[in-house]
Order: sequence, then C-alpha cells, then structure tokens
Amino acid sequence: AAKGGGRNGLAFFTEDMREKSFERRRLLNDLYDALQEGQFELHFQPALELQSGVIHKAEALVRWRHPAFGMISPDRFIPLAEESGLIFDLGRWILQEAARVSVRWNAQGTSPFRKQISVNLSPVQFLNGHYDAIVMDQLSLQGCQPGLIAIEITEGLLLDDSEAVRSQLNNLRAAGIQVALDDFGTGYSAMSYLKKFSMDYLKIDRSFVQDMVDADSNKAIVEAIIVMAHRLGMKVIAEGVETMVQAQLLRDAGCEYVQGYLYSRPLPEDDFLNFAASAHSPADAAAAR
Ligand code: C2E
Ligand code: MG
Ligand code: MG
Ligand code: MG
Repeated sequence: AAKGGGRNGLAFFTEDMREKSFERRRLLNDLYDALQEGQFELHFQPALELQSGVIHKAEALVRWRHPAFGMISPDRFIPLAEESGLIFDLGRWILQEAARVSVRWNAQGTSPFRKQISVNLSPVQFLNGHYDAIVMDQLSLQGCQPGLIAIEITEGLLLDDSEAVRSQLNNLRAAGIQVALDDFGTGYSAMSYLKKFSMDYLKIDRSFVQDMVDADSNKAIVEAIIVMAHRLGMKVIAEGVETMVQAQLLRDAGCEYVQGYLYSRPLPEDDFLNFAASAHSPADAAAAR
C-alpha cells in the first residue's frame, strides 16, 4: 500500500520499512549475478542415528557469500529467489552441486562419508509440472544414483491439493529418491499432507524439540508425532537438537535420527569430511562401505 504513494500510504512507510525494502531490492538485484559469479556454496550438516551415533546422512544447506555483506542465510534469500523465479536456476545449481559432491564422496576410497545427501527443495520448483523429470535428468548427467540423494520438502500452501505435485513426488520415490517432510508441525496443513503424500522421513521442527524439556505438552506432542510417523511407515528425524537432555527424551520416545548443534553445525565440505572421519569408528566406517 505504501508503494502506491498516496498520502495515507506514505504515512505508514516508516524509516525501518524503507531500509528493509531497500535491502530487499539490493539483494534481489545482486541475486541475479550471484549464480554466475559463483557466490553460492553448500554446507553440510550430519543427521546421526540416535542409538549408535553413526552418521546417517548429510543435509545440504545453501549459503550465499555476498561480496559486500558476507555470509547471508537462506532464510533471507530463498524467499527472494522464489518470488523472482531465480529459484529454478538456483535450485538446479544446488541439486547439481549436491549430486557432484555425492558422486565424489562415494567414489572408491576417497571419503570417510559414503551415504546420502539430502537436498531442500522449494515447493515452487514443482510448479512447472515436470520437476520429477528435471531432477532425474540432472542426477543422470552427474552420474549420480538416485539412492544417493534424498529431497526435503516443506508443507506449504502451494503444495496443497495439487494432484500434479503428488504425482511428481510419487515418480521421484518410484525412481529411488527418498523424500522427507521438513519442519513438521509448523505449517497449516501438516495432517492433510500425511494423508495425501507417502514419504520416507518426517522431520520434527526444532521449535517442538527445543521446548520438549520445559513443557510437558510439547513432550506429549513430540511423542505422539513419533508414534504417528511410525504407524505411517516413516522414520523420524528430530531437528535442532542442542542438549543431551533433549537427545535423551527423543531416545526414550523412539526417535531414530537426530540433527542439531549438539552434534555439529552445518559445515563446509572439508570440515564435514573431517567430522565424518572422526565420528566414525573404523568398524562403523567399514559398515558404511
Ligand atoms: P531447514 O531445511 O529446516 O534446515 C534446518 C535449519 O536449522 C538450518 O538453517 C540449520 O543450520 C539450522 N539448524 C540446524 N541445527 C540447529 C540447532 O541445533 N539449533 C538451531 N537454532 N538451528 C539449527 P539454515 O541453513 O539457515 O537454513 C534455513 C532454511 O533455509 C532451511 O530450513 C531451508 O528451509 C532453507 N534452505 C536451506 N538450504 C536450502 C536449499 O538449498 N534450497 C532451498 N529451497 N531451501 C534451503
Ligand atoms: Mg531441511
Ligand atoms: Mg527443517
Ligand atoms: Mg526450515
């Protein structure tokens, strides 16, 4: 409304909003060059098997190393990329890069970590209707087996009620790509999602995990989510685990996998591989091969 320029509109256009909108336009503008200039990078955060401590997979999280502003969080630029349509090119780069890294890690004798990388997808990427084919093409271009990649999708209104999205997801699963429902519990349509889509993993949002310790109601919710996920044939990954107490409560509740700062922050590739090398006992490393 403020943009309309009417006298009333301008009254609401505070200095703070002006700055935010300026920053937004600046970032949006810079976003177009960032891909060409190679300013994006993937960091990796391990998800561990709670019982054994063995790394189960690595989640790829994109970072933007902006020449003037430094490291920018995806929470700030992914929405801009979605609005501007750049998410299609950026998403292709992210998937290609994840596939390249996965192939490299799984090549004979090169890496202590030889399992799956999971990639976050924006719901927008499904809108063109044949994203399943695009994903498969990109993986085969990189020589990446589908089993080496998993995808994470968030519940979003966009995905609601969409037969097209359902069939794309089903095709990806049929091709051997595992699917995780991310940030479970934060959206509007969590339950109807579970009814419509079959998925391999449910990731409990960190807001529930972090409040489990203080509020019995949150603990009850987490426990119920885990029981429900298991009944639906899904494995559970708890996000944002920061304390041993949280980990213990999750273990008691039967959660299979954990991810969070307690174990590791998202790391650049080399640091992740060092972490993987020290986290795996020789026996674990052998089992992973
Ligand atoms: P997400 O997929 O739910 O990723 C988990 C976020 O929680 C990451 O933030 C991670 O750094 C953070 N996190 C992990 N452990 C902890 C913890 O113990 N405590 C706290 N406080 N935070 C923790 P990040 O990397 O800033 O990513 C934010 C969101 O941006 C992601 O949420 C995802 O929705 C989106 N995103 C990240 N990378 C990509 C991508 O490559 N493509 C798309 N489409 N979205 C992405
Ligand atoms: Mg995720
Ligand atoms: Mg999440
Ligand atoms: Mg998220």
